[in-house]
Amino acid sequence: MTEICRAAITRFGRLAQVTKAIEELAELQRALARDIPPDAPEAAAVNVHEEIADVEIMLMQLRLLYDLLEINEWKERKLERLARMVGIDDPEGEVREWRG
Ligand SMILES: [Mg+2]
Repeated sequence: MTEICRAAITRFGRLAQVTKAIEELAELQRALARDIPPDAPEAAAVNVHEEIADVEIMLMQLRLLYDLLEINEWKERKLERLARMVGIDDPEGEVREWRG
């Protein structure tokens, strides 16, 4: 996946891919808003799935375009904070597990 994302950045450029990320984030935002009502049609959830996939692909590219160490440090801090908020002391080390 990293190779594909690097190729996309090389082919289309940083500005285009950051702009695309903004667009995909907006599409996910709209899809989630449409899926909130309890009587939302099944198609709304399908659209959410598609938009989550789009955003995940763009996040992979943003991780290549921005400082990965900074991102990882922030993510670890935020996950540790969330773990404390939900009363998990993380004995399994899951906060660091995502780093691979
Ligand atoms: Mg999309």
